[in-house]
Amino acid sequence: MLTRPICAAYLRGKLPTRDPFCFGHEFVADVVAVGDEVAHFVPGNRVIVSFLIACGTCRRCLQGYPAACLTVPSKSAYGFGIFGDWGGAACDLIRVPYASTMMALLPDGISVTDAASAGDNLSDAFRCVADGLEEEPGAPVLIVAGGGGAPSISLYAAALAMSLGSEQVDYMDSDRERLTIAEAIGANPIEAKSPPKRHGSYWITADTSGHPSGDWLATALNSTAPYGRCTSCGIYHGVTPVPLGAMYRQGVRFTIGWANIQSLMPRVLNLLAAKAVALSKIHNVVPWDDAIAALKDPPPKLIFVRNHEAAAGRQ
Ligand SMILES: [Zn+2]
Repeated sequence: MLTRPICAAYLRGKLPTRDPFCFGHEFVADVVAVGDEVAHFVPGNRVIVSFLIACGTCRRCLQGYPAACLTVPSKSAYGFGIFGDWGGAACDLIRVPYASTMMALLPDGISVTDAASAGDNLSDAFRCVADGLEEEPGAPVLIVAGGGGAPSISLYAAALAMSLGSEQVDYMDSDRERLTIAEAIGANPIEAKSPPKRHGSYWITADTSGHPSGDWLATALNSTAPYGRCTSCGIYHGVTPVPLGAMYRQGVRFTIGWANIQSLMPRVLNLLAAKAVALSKIHNVVPWDDAIAALKDPPPKLIFVRNHEAAAGRQ
């Protein structure tokens, strides 16, 4: 179970919530019991679970948009106190509704820690780069992490783009720690203390800053090649300026919103099974009992492992 920044932000009182609630929205777990309607899973399976709750059978789910599921209330999710009483992963047992489509088996050969974030951030990062690289194999990618609103998604997107064959992955950030990790995974680090108006021209750009000024977002949008793809994973609140005039003149395919995790997880797991992705350089793994201490000064991505020895033995 993870995560930073969400858990850390809650602990610091920086996100709105109702008290009390159980946090933890990304997790790998062992199945201990299944209901009568659950297909494909049995007790003993190790599974990855989508953070967003969706039925898997309504019109929107079948169209590939579980984030717009018509059966459950909008924004139903684990681990976010304001999004319903679905529970969180920082607990002993968690109930998974619609389990037949909410879960995926952990494939052989993929470690628990590599898969730990597939239920949200890793899949979110995947959607930033995968379709663009399928469309134009080898295309250069620009990740605009800026102030680091979604630090792990930034680094995941860079690592995934490398594995998916991008010939150049440029990673722009103001944070030295993340720039060092980006370089370690093979990306080209670009240190920027403030957002440039534009940085080159890329078929694929991603904004993961979530900065309320919109300035880093504008850098990503203005750096997108004509009719290229720009995806934003930053969480914005209120009104954020967007350079629509430049986007119109340039032609930008812009995507923003919750990632449709159930549609993405199989593709992410297929990639992890087929190719090396430098996730271990991004992850900081700590035992469950050390979680609270680690969250006080979190690195870009924390993973907490319960029964650490047993989990390690299954990697
Ligand atoms: Zn649905």
